[in-house]
Parts: sequence; structure tokens; C-alpha cells
Amino acid sequence: MTDMPLSNLGAIDAAHHLHPFSDMKKLNAAGTRIIQRGEGVHIFDNHGRKYLDGFAGLWCVNVGYGRKEIAEAAYRQMQELPYYNTFFGTTTAPATLLAEKIASHTGDKLNRVFFTNSGSEANDTWFRMARVYWKALGKPTKTQVIARKNAYHGSTVAGASLGGMKLMHEQGNLPIEGISHINQPYWYAEGGDLSPADFGLKVARELEEKIDELGEDNVAAFVAEPIQGAGGVIIPPDTYWPEIARICRERNILLVCDEVICGFGRLGSWFGHQHYGVEPDLAPIAKGLSSGYLPIGGVLVSDRVAEVMVEELGGFYHGFTYSGHPVCAAAALENLRIIEEEGLVERVRDDIGPYFAQAWKSLEDHEVVGEAESVGLIGGLQLAADKSTRRRYSSPDDVGTLVRNHCLDNGLVMRATDDRMLASPALIIARSEVDEMVDTLRKGLDHLRDTVRE
Ligand SMILES: *Cc1c(COP(=O)(O)O)cnc(C)c1O
Repeated sequence: MTDMPLSNLGAIDAAHHLHPFSDMKKLNAAGTRIIQRGEGVHIFDNHGRKYLDGFAGLWCVNVGYGRKEIAEAAYRQMQELPYYNTFFGTTTAPATLLAEKIASHTGDKLNRVFFTNSGSEANDTWFRMARVYWKALGKPTKTQVIARKNAYHGSTVAGASLGGMKLMHEQGNLPIEGISHINQPYWYAEGGDLSPADFGLKVARELEEKIDELGEDNVAAFVAEPIQGAGGVIIPPDTYWPEIARICRERNILLVCDEVICGFGRLGSWFGHQHYGVEPDLAPIAKGLSSGYLPIGGVLVSDRVAEVMVEELGGFYHGFTYSGHPVCAAAALENLRIIEEEGLVERVRDDIGPYFAQAWKSLEDHEVVGEAESVGLIGGLQLAADKSTRRRYSSPDDVGTLVRNHCLDNGLVMRATDDRMLASPALIIARSEVDEMVDTLRKGLDHLRDTVRE
């Protein structure tokens, strides 16, 4: 796009382009940053400035930027057959082969995929599927879904309702009926005097209490991200997931793991639930499935649910024009081929993940850092006004933004959720790039220490 008149793109953007999750008045005043090019873990803006992308775009560019093989796979497919639907007894090779490829990495029980274009649509899809499942089994009252505060499951009506973001609920009269939220396993902020292990059990058992309150016969499913992403990379205590899995099993409700971020290698396993040793009945996926090169998502469906969908249900009246889009599927297939061939999941588990963990953890010696935790290549760092008492800053949002902006000015893209700094780099990041990331973040933390006193 180098022949486009880039000099006035900012003004055009302000005049015509509304951005997601943005205060447009502030953004228009500040001006949008125009990103032009990417290579490996780096992006370049229209002034030729280079940034280390510590965030893999938006948790998604797992294989890094500039993969010509993916572009070529999409180009070939687009020339041969740019589109065909999967609705009326037809399929295309990329859609079918992608479903098989995904299933080959899920373990024993998740053997089928329903395709969507995004993670939000994937959440809307399983939300209906779970209810349809119970109805087909003769239990039409099992409709309620339990989710968590501060969770993120997308921006569609069901996705935003399942999510536990207050600011999202306030816009558009959400959540919709039939969804309730329990507490998150955020020990640092909400654990009080409990040990992390005890706190993990306590918040997991809130699921049991909520099931009792609603009545087991009225509950269809529980949904959670293996590690909350947008909520601030909240890593649950080790006691949490086994207890959640036990409760779902004993109380006969479907367990849904939202794998949109944790899937495809980020935790050093193909899927986040594998890292925690639990088996979901349904699992929305997106992001790393195509490394963001083209939009595609889906729902992994266990045999338990699939057998009812196939044998009992008749028709599932649900689907998207672009479900299993052949070009997106071809790009995703090539992306998964790269992840396999380069051993990126194993690399995260055995090599770069442990290296990142130790570098990230080293930031805990900084006086404004309460804790710095990671799994694989996802990290969450808690800012603290007083680390000895776990006291947080009085304006969490401002301190996170301050550090983030300082990083950006120094060539590092980081994200902040309130007073937590989040990292989620491409799975191909080199050790020297991890060092650079941590060094730049440390300077951002120095800046916070030197400018804000509480
Ligand atoms: C990003 C995300 C979604 C939504 O995916 P979109 O493709 O943006 O619709 C859902 N769940 C989780 C955990 C996510 O991080």
C-alpha cells in the first residue's frame, strides 16, 4: 500500500474510522498510529519507526509477522476457489482438513470443530449449542450459564454477556438473561489473608454455591479462560482448575474452556486446558488458529456433545456465511503446519517459555512490582504502591497507561489492563528479544517509581 497518500491518513482516520474499545475524542486529538509493515516480532510505523511487538498483535500473531508461506497458501486457494459454503451438503478441502488437523492436537475427546469467523462468534455458538444439547437430552430447563467477573469472551451480545466486564455490560443493557458471574481467581487483589492455594479452592467452590443457588437442573454450563487474558493475565492458583473440573463433573454441567488466547501454543501446550490437566466439553478457539493472518475461529466439540448433536438433534439452526471459509482455512492450515514443523509448542514449553519466565520474574525485585508471573509466553505483572502489603495504586488505570506509554516511546508494544502489565509475544521471539523487552519494561517501571509517589 506504499502508493497510498500516507501523509493525510491520520486526518482521514479521524474523519471516518471508528475504532474498537476507544475513546474517539481522545484518540482523534492524539492521532492514530499507522502501522505499515511487520517482520518477525517487529512492526514498523509509517515514519519507519520500529517496535518490538510484545503483544503479538492482539494475542494472535503466534508465528510472527511476514510469513510468505501463509500468504502464498491463501493466494493459491483464492485463485482456485475463493469461496464456497458449508451449509447444504458441501465442503471444501481446506475446511475439512483443518478440522482434522485441529482435532489431531486436542487429545482424546475433542474430535469435532464448528467453524466461525471470530472468537466472539465461537462463544455465541457454544452458548446456543450447550442449551440445544441439554434440550435434546430431555432437559430443557438446563439453560443457565455461569461465567466469571472480569472474564473476556468477546463483543457480540452473548460474548459480552458471558464476559464479566462492567464497562461492557453498562453499554447495551447486558448481560442478557440466563447468565450469572462468580468471582475470578485473582489472588493478588482479592485473596486477602488466604494463601493462594486456599483462595483458589474458595473461588472455585463459588461455582458449587452458584449451582446450588440456581438449581442443578437449571444450569447448562460453566465457562472460563484457562488464564484470563484481557482481564489482566490472571494466572489461577494451581488448586483452582482441578476443583472446577471436579465440580462440573459431579454436578453434571458442561465445562467450557475459552481457548481463544491460550490455544495454539501460548502456554507451551497446544491448548490451555492441557496445561491445567482438565478436559472441557466445549472450547471456543480463534486468534492463534490462523496467527491472525485471516479471521477464523471455531468451537471444539467433545464426543459427548457431538454425539447428541449428530444422533439426537436433527438440525442445529446456526452458522455463518463464512463458516469454514476456504481461504481462511487454507491460511490456518499453513499456520498450523509452521507451528508443527518448527516445533513452536515444544519451544515454548522447553526453551523460550522457561527463559521468558526467569526474565519476567526478575522484575519482581523492582519496588513498584507486586508480582510477575507467567506461563509459557503469557505474562502478567502487577504494579504495586506498596509491595509489602499488596497495596495497589489509587488510580490503577493511570499507572498502567503511564508504563505502557513509556514502553511505546521506547520502541516496545506492551498492553496494560488497569495496574497490570501484560505480555504475549510471538512464539518465535528470540532470547535477546526477551531481554530487550524486559529491559525496556524495567525502564518503564523506573519511570513510574520516579513520577508517582503514593
Ligand atoms: C479475543 C477473545 C475473544 C473474542 O475473539 P474475537 O475474535 O475478538 O471475536 C473471546 N475470548 C477470549 C478469551 C479472547 O481473548
